[in-house]
Amino acid sequence: MPYDLAPGATIGILGGGQLGRMLAVAAAKLGLKTHVYAEKAESPALDVASSRTVAAFEDRETLAAFASSVDLITYEFENIPFHTASFLADLNLTRPSPATLAICQDRLREKEFLASVGAEFASYARVDDAGALARAVAQVGRQSILKTRRSGYDGKGQILLREGADLAVTFCALGGVPAILESIVPFEMEISVVAARGPDSSFAAYDVAENIHENQILKSTRVPARLPPEISAAAIQLTRRIAEALEYSGVLAVEMFVVRNGERRELRVNEIAPRVHNSGHWTLDGAVTSQFEQHVRAIAGWPLGETGRLRTQYGEYWEMKNLIGEDVLLWPEILAERNTHLHLYGKAEIRAGRKMGHFTRIIDPD
Ligand code: AMP
Repeated sequence: MPYDLAPGATIGILGGGQLGRMLAVAAAKLGLKTHVYAEKAESPALDVASSRTVAAFEDRETLAAFASSVDLITYEFENIPFHTASFLADLNLTRPSPATLAICQDRLREKEFLASVGAEFASYARVDDAGALARAVAQVGRQSILKTRRSGYDGKGQILLREGADLAVTFCALGGVPAILESIVPFEMEISVVAARGPDSSFAAYDVAENIHENQILKSTRVPARLPPEISAAAIQLTRRIAEALEYSGVLAVEMFVVRNGERRELRVNEIAPRVHNSGHWTLDGAVTSQFEQHVRAIAGWPLGETGRLRTQYGEYWEMKNLIGEDVLLWPEILAERNTHLHLYGKAEIRAGRKMGHFTRIIDPD
């Protein structure tokens, strides 16, 4: 068989969040089944999966049963324990590889990897204890953020260093775990490139996304980003280099800062997400192939789909807005808007900072 999966096969998805939910729906569209493995019974992906397992990521017996019940395994978030991913990869085809996860779930290894591909990023220093933090501040400066090496997302595991803050207290406030100190990048814009690479090295990127964060959580995305074409092309090229170096299979996103250096604009990589990404949600309604379908195609070894934007040939752009916490209560009004596509994740409990859904729409030129 020229492909790694045939229609009718089952994809195992580790993680039960909204990304897994949208992946499962995309897989179903292509005649594939999904088996979601989540740690919590109320996970939104479980509602739409063909089969489900609710168990800890450390439960080897259940992991082995899961691996034997599926034809291929993927992830919907990168903080799957590495030993879980490598245990599964010994039992079944796992894409992207555990080696990629190991890089992307550790901010220090990620920086070392980025340096190896010639990418630029914020200056940083390794911080293993409070004494190292004092040395790191001397090296990186006070305008900096302390970030845990592992398990950070949506601003969790980060502390902005305040003027005059006690460094030992700051280190303890972050849990006293291995961290990095990263200089604050005075960015003009935050962008991301969502792209796919297939096991045969095929590559396809979506238009560059311009992202607005609030409280370190993505608030909205605009596509295409308002950038000169050569900067957008450079961002996509860099993403391709990263995907190649990782021998990546699947969709990935590379988050970057655009900075001004005199007349020039330059790119600084913030982080790599080895999965479908919130800034790619606009593709559900705004691209020929959604990022979720694209991920399924890529991991299955199927031809990648077209990434072109729909219905925006006269300068319009696609906008995606997240519904965070109580924003979701606006759902009836959003439904009543013309030309607006609402997506709800089926989460029962509204919590501050929790991603409850999103909507997309086309906006006329400014
Ligand atoms: P992260 O979880 O590292 O992606 O950080 C979430 C958000 O915090 C980013 O999208 C930025 O808005 C902000 N942020 C993180 N690191 C930096 C940095 N070094 N300089 C400026 N802003 C940052």
